[in-house]
Amino acid sequence: MANYDVIVVGAGNGGLCAATTCAKAGYSVLLLEKHNLPGGCATSFVRGRFEFEPSLHELCDESTNERMRSMNQIYADLGVKETFLREEMLYRVIAKGPNGYDHRIKATKEGFIESMEEAAPGCRQQMETLFELNYLFDAAQIYMDDCGGVSGMNPVTLLTKYGDFIRAAGNSIDKLLDALGMSEKAKSLTNTYWGYLGDPPRDLNAMHFISLLAAYVEGRPSMPYDRSHGMSLAILKVFQECGGEIWYNSPVTEFLYDDSGAAIGVVANGEAIYSKKIISNIIPNNVMNLSNSKFVKKAMRKLANARTLGMSIQTVYLGLDCSMEELGVDDYSVFVMGDPDANVQYDRRKDMGLYIVNCLNKTIPDASPDGTCMLFFTIPSFDGDFPADLKPQDYKKYKNALAEKYIRDYEELLGIDIRSHIEEISVATPVTFARYLSTPNGSIYGYMSQGWDNVVNRVVFKDLENKVKNMKFCGGHSLRGDGYPSAFITGEQMANETIAELKEGK
Ligand SMILES: Cc1cc2nc3c(=O)[nH]c(=O)nc-3n(C[C@H](O)[C@H](O)[C@H](O)COP(=O)(O)OP(=O)(O)OC[C@H]3O[C@@H](n4cnc5c(N)ncnc54)[C@H](O)[C@@H]3O)c2cc1C
Repeated sequence: MANYDVIVVGAGNGGLCAATTCAKAGYSVLLLEKHNLPGGCATSFVRGRFEFEPSLHELCDESTNERMRSMNQIYADLGVKETFLREEMLYRVIAKGPNGYDHRIKATKEGFIESMEEAAPGCRQQMETLFELNYLFDAAQIYMDDCGGVSGMNPVTLLTKYGDFIRAAGNSIDKLLDALGMSEKAKSLTNTYWGYLGDPPRDLNAMHFISLLAAYVEGRPSMPYDRSHGMSLAILKVFQECGGEIWYNSPVTEFLYDDSGAAIGVVANGEAIYSKKIISNIIPNNVMNLSNSKFVKKAMRKLANARTLGMSIQTVYLGLDCSMEELGVDDYSVFVMGDPDANVQYDRRKDMGLYIVNCLNKTIPDASPDGTCMLFFTIPSFDGDFPADLKPQDYKKYKNALAEKYIRDYEELLGIDIRSHIEEISVATPVTFARYLSTPNGSIYGYMSQGWDNVVNRVVFKDLENKVKNMKFCGGHSLRGDGYPSAFITGEQMANETIAELKEGK
């Protein structure tokens, strides 16, 4: 009978990090993955002579404060070796419509403020204030961490010393930018990244958004030279060197519990495998579906049902038979907006409200063979956007029409010819992500971070939430919301909590 200290289910970013942290601490760890390669979203696929990056546009380190855990620190501590290439430019943003514009906004705090002031004169002080607020948010989060949970916090300190943090944590970015007296144009430019979190600015949590923006600006967006698949392989190498075991093609088909409802193992390949602890990199909805319902606590089901599933994405991957210079492209990230107002972008999202185009060769010049380049179109997709009544025989037609619509629009906007250079094309929809990741509705971001279910509330109340004994959750659906860094940080955090419990014999 197989028996481990820890079983980690799913080898996405969160699962890989959790498994490696536990293995490095000397515990026996089994990592179970349904596919034949690691990474989840952080993977790659090949068409002809092109190896495509399926998910990563750009990384941010998630923290600008040395005392808060960041991806870089986690990599360094685990001994994972990877080269990161940093971008000079944050984004080029093209907004259509009567008040439209076309600006390039630089990375680094100085570069960002300078280019924002140039694009929306008079906003310098407001931009400075955003960074000041972010430093306060960092300090407040460190205070909360130091208090060791909600019971150790002093509400008076929180309100007096970190009042703006509390206000920002409970308000939308729209309200915050209005309170700063920002012009419509400065707001529009500031809100460019709203699609990375998925809420329109009228609902988007101000604290979460400013932290994300500041992290991208100050840390500069980066890409691993070996791309996301290389990152997955690099961390897997450390995991295996530490004695960790990974089983591919091994979907977990059942979670096992003892009579008290404590998790004791899983079933994979028809075999029961037992462990003292389980870390799930798969979303709680699926864990419940794979558990005998008598062991699923009502509170856990209620929590999952009360939350809003995170957004999905439609993507068009292109391998072109010309270089980016021949194509006439010179930007890494271009945000194309149907209207300068980010709330309108969200409302019109089904008709090109917002899409992003990345040219990987700008950051990684040898990402594709000499004389070629790759483009990657990203279109946010929310619950209900994908036609539920689409018939299987019409799926190809749907994907072709989607690709053509966005490619044509971008050609016209930039005055370039993409279509006659297409050597390889692949289109992914929420259906692709649902199938590959096994997430409900193809959610790539776990649950939406919004309203009562925002990141601050999740972190503050985590110990009060209903828990399954011996089981923890890491990844995009966990405490910190979406994205690579969040998946890594929660992977490490859940591993450390698991290790502490193992040490205490809990
Ligand atoms: C197109 C796209 C673009 C993105 N762009 C960015 C970006 O630019 N920057 C950024 O930071 N983030 C981006 N993201 C989001 C980011 O990729 C995810 O938030 C993050 O990688 C999620 O990691 P995770 O740990 O939750 O695992 P996932 O990637 O969800 O992996 C979960 C793993 O579990 C496995 N699994 C599922 N069910 C089972 C089972 N029953 N048994 C065993 N294994 C199972 C899956 O096969 C998978 O390997 C993007 C995502 C996509 C799809």
